[in-house]
Amino acid sequence: MTPGAPSHPRYNRVLLKLSGEVLSGGRGFGIETAAVDGIARQVADGYALGVQLALVVGGGNIIRGSQASRDGAERAVADYMGMLATLINALALQQALERIGLDTRLQSAITVQSVAEMFIRRRAIRHLEKGRIVILAAGTGNPYFSTDTASVLRALELGADALLKATKVDGVYDKDPMAHPEAKKYDSLTYDQAIEQQLAVMDQTAFTMCREHSLPIVVFALNEPSAIRRALLGEPIGTTVGGQSNG
Ligand code: UDP
Repeated sequence: MTPGAPSHPRYNRVLLKLSGEVLSGGRGFGIETAAVDGIARQVADGYALGVQLALVVGGGNIIRGSQASRDGAERAVADYMGMLATLINALALQQALERIGLDTRLQSAITVQSVAEMFIRRRAIRHLEKGRIVILAAGTGNPYFSTDTASVLRALELGADALLKATKVDGVYDKDPMAHPEAKKYDSLTYDQAIEQQLAVMDQTAFTMCREHSLPIVVFALNEPSAIRRALLGEPIGTTVGGQSNG
């Protein structure tokens, strides 16, 4: 922990969104066990602060509906493939979390009763209250949505204090930092700035829902040391969307 940094979590209940790409590690595709184990250790580190954690996992490391439909698949089918990809990721994550002794429950927005409970809001809340980490798979269960939107939806339904979005990029930039080395990173942004500038870090539906319900968002890179723990403590990390801008 940074000297002088807070030692109590800022939040009681958090929705942590893990982009599919963080599960692929250095490969950029599929699942790298070492990367998933690293994520599980970070989650454990954050959980040890006493925060109730619900995780939404993406599927972009396996398939994205928009890309697959550009390649010729029917969009709705491609999206269902994407949602099933999130389930594959969720199983990998659940296994890694349980291997290090964490109690988890996997809930899915699509019926797959052999591997996951159905998402039931009240049951998910009960799990959280009992200290179980709840992994939420299959997005919203509907095509034409993203797991970003699913994260906001579930954060609101579950009464989370904040949405933490862990990616490979260390915050929100005014342009794509990969393509533009001069891109400027924001420390904080308002919802209006994020929406007006069409910043690509989350889709517009997700931002709009956050604005409507004043749900704070923290976007940060998972490869920074103790990133999840630091975000939960409210230490300055990544970009915060929601309050006053000072970026
Ligand atoms: N998806 C969907 N409905 C949802 C959530 C996800 O159809 O509610 C599909 C969509 O095709 C998406 C894919 O699942 O591209 C994987 O999710 P996403 O791209 O959000 O994953 P991430 O970029 O976070 O890894």
